[in-house]
Amino acid sequence: MINFKTKVIEAQWNSDYLNTKLRLLVMVIGMYMLLHYKVVMTITSIFREGDKGVHGYWRGVDIRVHDFKSGEAEELTNWINKMFDYDPKRILSVAVHHDVGQGDHIHLQVHPNTTFRI
Ligand SMILES: [Zn+2]
Repeated sequence: MINFKTKVIEAQWNSDYLNTKLRLLVMVIGMYMLLHYKVVMTITSIFREGDKGVHGYWRGVDIRVHDFKSGEAEELTNWINKMFDYDPKRILSVAVHHDVGQGDHIHLQVHPNTTFRI
């Protein structure tokens, strides 16, 4: 189960434009959040028109962190980055826990090179 901040975001989640690898990754993380933290994932942002970053290209998803206890969002971020490699050729992360003006959240992103670390 995944919650969405708005109906528009829910429609974006179901859109064919959404990157398939990102959708799969978000579902795996959502499942882990439920099993490990008993937190239902809430998606707060997906596509942002005119965004020059991944949100403008359907390769970024933001998730709510205020449902977590102290330290858990950071712990989850570290777990995600241990599991997934954004691009083996570059030092960039799949998950970033940050606050860039829209409030504290975990930003998730994928690239065509994103892989599982095995
Ligand atoms: Zn983001």
